[in-house]
Amino acid sequence: MYIKDKFKEKKVVYSFEIFPPKASSPIETIYNTLEALQDLKPDYISVTYGAGGNISDNRTVELSSLVKNKYGIESLAHLTCISSSKETIDQIMQQLKAANVENILALRGDIPLDSEPAGDFQYASELVAYLRQQKGFGIAGACYPEGHIDALSLEQDLEALKLKVDAGADYLISQLFFDNDFFYDFLERVEQKGINVPIQAGIMPVANTRQIERIVSLCGATIPKKFLKIMERYEHDKKALRDAGIAYATEQIIDLISSGVRGIHLYTMNNPYIARKITANISSVLEFTNEQSGSRDE
Ligand code: FAD
Repeated sequence: MYIKDKFKEKKVVYSFEIFPPKASSPIETIYNTLEALQDLKPDYISVTYGAGGNISDNRTVELSSLVKNKYGIESLAHLTCISSSKETIDQIMQQLKAANVENILALRGDIPLDSEPAGDFQYASELVAYLRQQKGFGIAGACYPEGHIDALSLEQDLEALKLKVDAGADYLISQLFFDNDFFYDFLERVEQKGINVPIQAGIMPVANTRQIERIVSLCGATIPKKFLKIMERYEHDKKALRDAGIAYATEQIIDLISSGVRGIHLYTMNNPYIARKITANISSVLEFTNEQSGSRDE
């Protein structure tokens, strides 16, 4: 099933992101995580590609296939293009087709620091257009409520996003953010630009301060005072930090759903405990909201 069709059935699409285990670990190490996530009945699970820019030990196809065929959950395979030739992209598309994985998150990927990009594509919108030509996939794209870190301005980033949607992205998933007001401002600007595909809000619960510091330095998300207070107060107590992080993410999500956002994409960091707690906290709100929905034309 194409994920875009889930947005027609539901007011709020709820999904998880996971990453493949390291090449040195057997794929079975992810089974426990997947079993736990399966119980939470997400609308789909996305699988990252080439973590840290390394696409040589890529297990995205294998794991996307497992999600779909062993666990019966729709899967979304991430795919980056900045360091890949058309031949490599073609090969991955064939593998995904053979595994019955029907959805791709088309990404540029980060520009490699130590070498010139070797791919046939410069921007994600070019990959979107290429995938669209080949047919047979639902296509998602990434978006950045606070602007992409390389972008010259918010307006230029929005222009680029419009190109990506016009090239054929069915829907968008946002970069993580900790202040919902950035997301609401972004939605307004997107609407004014004439971009009208559904947008899922990407939410990352804080699990440890090092992880958040690293991610924020990579993507530039603003840390609100309220969030900083939590990180500083509990940084030396793992459990307290985890539970405060769960509470913070829950509050963000409830506010987003109440404000009518079309989807929540939870960056699970392969941590089923956190996903389970958050899902329990929001499940009645999700159910109530989705029960109110008829079918939608989007
Ligand atoms: P693009 O949409 O191509 O944008 C990149 C930059 O180029 C932006 O600054 C944009 O404004 C600019 N731009 C785009 N088009 C044009 C144009 N025509 N002219 C001028 N400027 C232009 N990375 C991974 O390696 N693996 C993953 O699995 C992964 N998953 C992700 C999932 C999500 C939901 C998100 C939000 C990001 C993910 N990333 C992942 C990170 C992503 O690869 C990086 O943020 C990357 O730097 C940009 O990718 P993009 O697809 O948004 O690029």
